[in-house]
Amino acid sequence: MQKKHLEKSIFKKIIDGDLPSEKVFENDQLIAIKDIAPVAPVHLLIIPKKCIESIQVMQPEDLPLLQEVVSVAQTLAKEHGVANGYRLLTNSGTDAGQTVFHLHFHLIGGKILGPMG
Ligand code: AMP
Repeated sequence: MQKKHLEKSIFKKIIDGDLPSEKVFENDQLIAIKDIAPVAPVHLLIIPKKCIESIQVMQPEDLPLLQEVVSVAQTLAKEHGVANGYRLLTNSGTDAGQTVFHLHFHLIGGKILGPMG
C-alpha cells in the first residue's frame, strides 16, 4: 500500500476540523469549501465526508452520494450566481491531474469557460 493511502488527506483534515477552510455548505454526508487556488471567480469543492480515494473506486453502495453531490451543486450554483453555466467535474487519478486523493467535485464558473482537454 502506498503512503498516500495511510495518511489523512488534506480534505479529511478539513472535514475533521484539523485544518481551516472557507466552508460554504455542510450536511451529514458532504462539505463544500472554496478552493484555495481558484481557477475561476467561483471555484468550490464538494467533498463527501466518507474517505473514498476517487470516483474510480466508488462502490455501488456509495453511488447515492453522487445524487447528493448533484443536488448540492445545483443549490450552490444558484447561491453563487452561476446557475446559468458551470462545470462540475472530478479528476480521477494522477493522469487526470488528481492531487488530493479524497473524492471531490470541482464546481467552477463565473466566467466563460474554455474547451476541455
Ligand atoms: P484535484 O487536483 O482534482 O485533486 O483538486 C484538488 C484541489 O484542492 C485543487 O484545486 C487545490 O487548489 C485544492 N486544495 C488543496 N488544498 C486545499 C485547501 N487546504 N483548501 C482548499 N482547497 C485546497
